[in-house]
Amino acid sequence: MKVVKFGGSSLADGPQFEKVISIMKADPERQVIITSAPGKRHDGDIKVTDLLIKYAQLTIKHADTSEIFNQIFSRYQSIGDYFGLTEDALAPIWHALSELPTTDYPDDDYLMAAFKAHGERLNARLMATVMTHLGLKARFVDPKEAGIIVSDEPNNATVLPETYTHLAHIDVDDTILVFPGFFGFTPNGQIATFSRGGSDITGAIVARGLKADLYENFTDVDAIYAANPKLVDHPLAIHRMTYREMRELSYAGFSVFHDEAIIPAIQGEIPINVKNTNRPDLPGTLIVPEKDFKPAQTITGVASSTRFAALYLHRYLLNKEVGFTLKLLQVFKKYNVSYEHMPSGIDDLTVIFDKTQFDEDTIHNMCHDIREVLQPDTLEWIDDYAIIMVVGEGMRNKVGVIEQIIQPLAQHDIGVHMINQGASRISIMLGTRRADAEEAVKSIYNAFFSSEPVKN
Ligand code: ASP
Repeated sequence: MKVVKFGGSSLADGPQFEKVISIMKADPERQVIITSAPGKRHDGDIKVTDLLIKYAQLTIKHADTSEIFNQIFSRYQSIGDYFGLTEDALAPIWHALSELPTTDYPDDDYLMAAFKAHGERLNARLMATVMTHLGLKARFVDPKEAGIIVSDEPNNATVLPETYTHLAHIDVDDTILVFPGFFGFTPNGQIATFSRGGSDITGAIVARGLKADLYENFTDVDAIYAANPKLVDHPLAIHRMTYREMRELSYAGFSVFHDEAIIPAIQGEIPINVKNTNRPDLPGTLIVPEKDFKPAQTITGVASSTRFAALYLHRYLLNKEVGFTLKLLQVFKKYNVSYEHMPSGIDDLTVIFDKTQFDEDTIHNMCHDIREVLQPDTLEWIDDYAIIMVVGEGMRNKVGVIEQIIQPLAQHDIGVHMINQGASRISIMLGTRRADAEEAVKSIYNAFFSSEPVKN
């Protein structure tokens, strides 16, 4: 049995719905579908989720919502019209949307979550209605009925473990089950959404809960590429990769998946197939457990991310000092700051942060405290830090990879500030200046892929 998730651009209008339905019909194993909210139909269009956020904001302000309401409803209506649905068939969607402002919510955060969730909730309802209208056996499954239970964080929830026990009770027979992505219910029965892009998470949760043989994730790209196509001309498509390769690459900016999305699939050992709704016959990229994977080439992909900043500390005889790092971590805790990496030398230490968690004041005050508490000989805050991630199961047993990575960088005069290899030995992380990140990715990609056999 396959669980199949479609992204917002795959469900943006009637013709896209039609493609999705024919993909579902093409394979009887496709018994469960997860829908996103209708996405952008063209450049400049607005996703229904963003329209719902506006609807929520106007409701909170007690402002007039009639225009935004019509804008949202017309997105569903035009899909219904495309398939010749009657007004009656669309009435539940109209009612659900119009009842949103008069429902009781614990606070405005929960109100926002409930509004946002209706993008997917109504799209899944509509999909089930359209499928039935076309003669397919299909049924809408609300996360409440399915028992998708999430933490009490209305707009940034995480799934709670009892969800999997609940999902295990669902019978998958000859009726296509249509689940909305992106949200669940808190233990108190309130709607809470995952973070943006979170329908991928629902897909992985349902695939794990129902013990699917495959989780197909349909989007609008043919495959995952060995490097960002915006940086490298026609990069190679990756045909097969492991979970941990995907995880390392998405950390460093491969934006195919929501960061947390593949975790439930990994836990359930469900292979994931990323495919294109517009070209469903292409094989896409298959992401599989490590155990049966035989790498055919040294590296699988290279990515860069510029969302980092680094703190460099130098103090003579740091290696002999007991408690230095403990005191440093206490300062981080005081400012509620988490760090990503902490490579160290004999007398120095670099701490790399995700800089989206900082504002100017926090940086200033935190550095001030560190100077006071630790009295370093040097403290430098590096704001334009980039991380390059070179990833490949094939690196594990190969000697000399680091030379192959560093050489093209030296040829392009790119300074490397940090090198870190994880214990798994399937990735090497390099720290550079932001201005060098693009060139670094290009030159590493060329060094490996212009001279190697291309297929996994
Ligand atoms: N519709 C939600 C969003 O735009 C979730 C998703 O599409 O995955 O973030």
